[in-house]
Amino acid sequence: MQDGQARIGLIGLGTMGAALASNIAEKGFEVAVFNRTTQVTREFVADAGDLAARMVPTETLEALVAAIAPPRAIILMVPAGQPVDDQIAALRPLLDADDLIIDCGNANFHETDRRVAEATGPFLGVGVSGGEEGARHGPAIMGGGDPAHWARVEDIMLAIAAHHGDEPCAALVGPEGAGHFVKMVHNGIEYADMQMIAEVYGILREGHGMGYDAIADVFARWDEGPLKSYLIEISSAVARARDVATGEPLLSQIIDAAGQKGTGRWTAIESQHLMTPIPAIEAAVVARNVSSRREERARGEAMFGAAPERFDTLDHDTLERALIAGKILCYAQGFVMIAATCEAHGWDIDLPQVARLWREGCIIRSTMLDDMAAALEAHPGENLMRTPFFANLLKENHGALRRVVAEAALHGHPTPALSSGLAYFDAMRTARGTAALIQGQRDFFGLHGFEHVNGLFHQHGPWARQTATPKHEPKT
Ligand code: NDP
Repeated sequence: MQDGQARIGLIGLGTMGAALASNIAEKGFEVAVFNRTTQVTREFVADAGDLAARMVPTETLEALVAAIAPPRAIILMVPAGQPVDDQIAALRPLLDADDLIIDCGNANFHETDRRVAEATGPFLGVGVSGGEEGARHGPAIMGGGDPAHWARVEDIMLAIAAHHGDEPCAALVGPEGAGHFVKMVHNGIEYADMQMIAEVYGILREGHGMGYDAIADVFARWDEGPLKSYLIEISSAVARARDVATGEPLLSQIIDAAGQKGTGRWTAIESQHLMTPIPAIEAAVVARNVSSRREERARGEAMFGAAPERFDTLDHDTLERALIAGKILCYAQGFVMIAATCEAHGWDIDLPQVARLWREGCIIRSTMLDDMAAALEAHPGENLMRTPFFANLLKENHGALRRVVAEAALHGHPTPALSSGLAYFDAMRTARGTAALIQGQRDFFGLHGFEHVNGLFHQHGPWARQTATPKHEPKT
């Protein structure tokens, strides 16, 4: 291929970048590639087979820029954070004013907002989900930025994305960091979905005393019903897998400390800033943090005895129904959070479109997302849990969720995400809660005032007159 002919460039041939570059080439677009370590570029193209004909390996940023047809578009697939800023700083001086940089890594959306604001040329922040397999054969793609910039690469994004029927799972969801924001919430939901499945796995393993193959069978059966999803499917595969080194069941050989790269934590932190409750997602982040405290957990077990007891009062149908209810509540929280962020940022993210984007390619893909898209479409602005279809599902299944949480608690099985989902459900159907006491307490110790049922604001309790100098009281 001659200089200046590649349709797009890509920097960073790691797990995701290599898969994405191959996907782009496979869909018929010429792609110029560059990697910090030159040997990686050489090996990647040497191993690319027929696809190499549509790849231009380059060994300097100057050569990369020269290989792309102007106005250029260049994807960054390097680790989020400082590497992205460094890469932009190195690249921008080599580019023309209208050349487009597209960050496809897992950037914090606030950083993408900043990069858009600081950018001296076109910039898009694009969330890509689906892991290596998705990037290679069709990820879900959540774009953020200027529609005119998106339009320049839309054909490539739609071509490489996963498809649900004929519909590509790729779209510009909003301006600035909106794409990375939606990807972040996707990951937050992913944390909660995974955690709820892991909690039920714990009940099957320790409570029912089931073997790994039998647990794999249960998940496989659930993958044929309402829970049908990638995460249930791979849970079955993981439960059935054998360890390469020992031949033992793989799950018996993996240390039970969950890793994380921060996107779940960002979701939890952001929800606190927005004051939007996402307790199931927060609980899942906390559960990963607790899982990493192995030594402390072992000391606790030695002191108090192991928590999970054997019990068999929950049948598989009840556990499946509990997961259905838990899943709805966790997704409902995620969608409400997206709506709240739109209000705070002046964005207009189309919730049904987000649900449609997540139907294929990404880690949380599931048949339920199809119904979620339809429900959000038919009932704009409504919390998913109150849309008729999902309200009915909750009515049918919240009893099972309650039983699982209660029985699990009675028998020492921690179910933080399922419990938090249930508490959210109950709180969100309690018209008169308990916060009057909190308001009374706040007024008592800090004269913060409260709203009276008669409609008057800044009312005080009888202690107000007796407190001579409220302004000097410590306010905590
Ligand atoms: P890898 O670690 O596999 O690859 C990182 C790539 O970036 C390598 O090509 C590496 O080059 C290059 N790189 C590392 N540091 C720098 C730097 N300071 N300057 C320039 N290049 C650098 O990462 P992934 O492919 O897994 O992830 C890339 C991005 O995609 C991340 O933001 C990640 O969060 C995101 N992502 C990852 C997913 C996954 O499943 N892995 C899923 C969705 C998003 P070298 O060969 O020289 O080390």
